Amino acid sequence: MADRQPPLEGATEAAIVCQGLTKRYGATVAVDGIDWIVPKGSVTGLVGPNGAGKSTTLKMLIGLVRPTAGRAWVLGRDVTAESLDVRVRTGYMPEEDSLLRWMTAEDALAFSRLLYPTWSDALFRETLDLFGLSPKVPVSKMSKGMRRQLALALAVAQRPELLLLDEPTSGLDPERRRDFLNVILKSVAREGVTVVMSSHQLHEVERVADRVAFMRAGRIVLESDLDALKEAARRIRVVFQGEPPPDLAQWEGVVRVEADGRSHVLQVSGDVDALIARLKAYNPFVVEVVEHNLEDLYFETGGKGGTRP
Ligand code: ATP
Repeated sequence: MADRQPPLEGATEAAIVCQGLTKRYGATVAVDGIDWIVPKGSVTGLVGPNGAGKSTTLKMLIGLVRPTAGRAWVLGRDVTAESLDVRVRTGYMPEEDSLLRWMTAEDALAFSRLLYPTWSDALFRETLDLFGLSPKVPVSKMSKGMRRQLALALAVAQRPELLLLDEPTSGLDPERRRDFLNVILKSVAREGVTVVMSSHQLHEVERVADRVAFMRAGRIVLESDLDALKEAARRIRVVFQGEPPPDLAQWEGVVRVEADGRSHVLQVSGDVDALIARLKAYNPFVVEVVEHNLEDLYFETGGKGGTRP
């Protein structure tokens, strides 16, 4: 067992703190010295292309993979030295489920009840009911999607303080996917649980997350409140009838101007409504706010290089 070390300052207030967290497999650097703080009560989407290091990060946080260098604290506990405490308080859904094939949901319940002091039978049954899963069917007879549902029901009924979900909705049909996200959101609303969810489904992340972390080649290249990120990425598109105001780039709130003939895209900050009103005085053909969704933001900020998340 590793030495117990005092938590980093602030580590007890945040749900997750990573400091130079690194995992190497031979010459492969899976996770490359990440510094990352996840506030309590937040829902974070961990987004990045295949091989970015998302699963390895989550595995280090739950104590399944030992960091090569750096440290991490989950719920104020060192993930290496105090991994048992971390596991009891954290619900984890791996990318590939680790459910025993002979077990039924009922068997899993009996087992989990012994492991987790905060376990709720009622919540487990309620989640199974919502998914229409029978407690008596063995895992070996379940589809991949049904196994995902059982894994989520187990993670949620543990009533953890933190949920680490690795591509939780892969293999689910649209209806189950919606139910699934609702279960996660309910846990957040009811228990104030912190969630970190890796996903390639950006519209899904957008629906549930209030924070986003873009991961690429083992690094977190951007981490932000999602609304703040969207606000910072807002643009105004304006097509003037005549000449544009010559001092447009110096206007208050205009950060950058990209011009293509009479069409201009303004990168803006602050009061967008005031800028729109000022632009309207020039009687333009078009003046509109261009909002960005998470996919646009991914490709614009974290996704340089253009591979799919
Ligand atoms: P995906 O979106 O495809 O699930 P990911 O972002 O979760 O990808 P990881 O599974 O964390 O990425 O993998 C990061 C890198 O580490 C990859 O290059 C992968 O090949 C490598 N890697 C992961 N686990 C191991 C292992 N057990 N042994 C060797 N290399 C590994």
